[in-house]
Amino acid sequence: MTANKWLVTAGALALSVGLAQPTFADVSIDSIVKDAETADDVVSYGLGPQGQRYSALDKITKDNVDQLVPAWALSLGGEKMRGQQAQPLVKDGVIYFTGSYSRVWAVDAKTGHELWQYDARLPEGILPCCDVINRGAALIGDKVIFGTLDAKLVALDQKTGKVVWTKTIDDFKGGYSYTAAPLIVPSSAHGPLIVTGVSGGEFGIVGRVEARKADNGDLVWTRPTIEGHVGTLNGKDSTMTGTKNETWKGDLWKTGGGATWLGGTYDPDTKLIFIGTGNPGPWNSHMRPGDNKWSCSRIAIDPETGDIKWGFQTTPHDGWDFDGVNEVISFDLDGTKAAATADRNGFFYVLNRENGKFIRGFPFVEKITWATGLDENGRPLYVADNRPGDPKDSKDGKKGASVFAVPSFLGGKNQQQMAYNPGTKLFYVPANEWGMDIHNEPVTYKKGAAYLGAGFTIKPIFDDHIGALKAVDPASGKIVWTVKNRAPLWGGVLTTPGLVFYGTPEGDLKAVDATDGKELWHFNTGSGIVAPPITWEQDGEQFVSVLSGWGGAVPLWGGEVAKTVANLNQGGMLWTFKLPKRVAAN
Ligand code: CA
Ligand code: CA
Repeated sequence: MTANKWLVTAGALALSVGLAQPTFADVSIDSIVKDAETADDVVSYGLGPQGQRYSALDKITKDNVDQLVPAWALSLGGEKMRGQQAQPLVKDGVIYFTGSYSRVWAVDAKTGHELWQYDARLPEGILPCCDVINRGAALIGDKVIFGTLDAKLVALDQKTGKVVWTKTIDDFKGGYSYTAAPLIVPSSAHGPLIVTGVSGGEFGIVGRVEARKADNGDLVWTRPTIEGHVGTLNGKDSTMTGTKNETWKGDLWKTGGGATWLGGTYDPDTKLIFIGTGNPGPWNSHMRPGDNKWSCSRIAIDPETGDIKWGFQTTPHDGWDFDGVNEVISFDLDGTKAAATADRNGFFYVLNRENGKFIRGFPFVEKITWATGLDENGRPLYVADNRPGDPKDSKDGKKGASVFAVPSFLGGKNQQQMAYNPGTKLFYVPANEWGMDIHNEPVTYKKGAAYLGAGFTIKPIFDDHIGALKAVDPASGKIVWTVKNRAPLWGGVLTTPGLVFYGTPEGDLKAVDATDGKELWHFNTGSGIVAPPITWEQDGEQFVSVLSGWGGAVPLWGGEVAKTVANLNQGGMLWTFKLPKRVAAN
């Protein structure tokens, strides 16, 4: 071969590789249901609708993970930084992800080159409680579906990023917004459904779950989460949630909260949607005697009808803003169809996912003050003195007795997603150990205004950490190991056969040994990580991706803790890592 001919051949090769565009491919409902079994794509939030965040990929191992290097990084650009909390999706060489301020990207997974970007036009006056974040999109058919901060559901053309349809979830002026990743579930009666909730639990909204047809966004059913409200099916009233006034006296159930702001999971085995509900409104619990169902609960919904099949209330008569929204992860517990969830209230719950029956529960964070434990049905054993006092008992009626409660209202665990590893049979929980001063005040409902009736300041309870990644054994209730972190953990977890990946507000993406928590690798992404990592395989290589970009609820609501993280810089990058070829080949 002459030198000249070599150059021409190499040039032609480079050109063909350089111009090769990824092929867009439809995402079937079957591939979403089976997402956990396929390593070459990530087509659901949670790496499988069950939400385990486990990948069987084992090319990156305990022995070689220290060689992991960036393959590429992409800036989200502009002046729009703030918290980046989304989980990316990957299908046939294209990564789809959302960013702050209701933005969406499609990116070539091999090169990080942008294929398209969509920016929602947000109106003045949106009311997001906890930063301008978004947790991710959903893929179905040839569409990318996501929700916006002004409470709209938008379907984009997968190939172009152009809008196919838009639906209004609710009135953003009334305090509604949308930040969760939509959930796609199969149904025999209606075809694939898009299941969404609502954000706005601090504004006196009423939580609900809705299902729409995946092809055109038409509403199929709605399910309010608060007792006394009536659902719909095919445009007609269906059934009432609970029984009116059974656990809510008076009229406050009409603005009762129970926001479904974190979205849900789906179990193909029992064919149930699991979704959590937020705090009852207002925070001042003395205004609403009773258990206040189904606030601060997990509910199982039949996708065919929208009816509630079972409910489990983690914090009846909540007085601390212990939203019950955290994800319910399906798993096998020695032959029992189980599910687990780590609550804001500091307790870890193992339930029978067929009927919602309590199997066991135990604290996963230290120094819990508001309850001494759980009874045989999983109901908290309350510490009466640790409930913030009734303002009516104060001299001027304006401020109830203040208490110091653990966990803080941002929770033993918040929106940051835990993971389950079927190999180690452990849950990896990104927990936080902190407390709060909290007191109640009088409040009346006003549309679009904060509806709390409480004042609060979050404070650390340990000198050396707030964040604590914990390996939790659901069979014994033991905490197998803990890795402390100075700042609060706000990003999700990913697990593979030997490893656990998670990010920190300090900016590091870390890999630790799944058996003992020993740190094996870290990489500073340049800004805080408040999002969950993913992994997938392409052309024989294993990749790991995560969004970096500090923000979310902690800097806005963190009280004294917010001061300790005030030095962290904002950002907005999608990072993708892989092993160098010479390492991967060994
Ligand atoms: Ca998959
Ligand atoms: Ca709340």
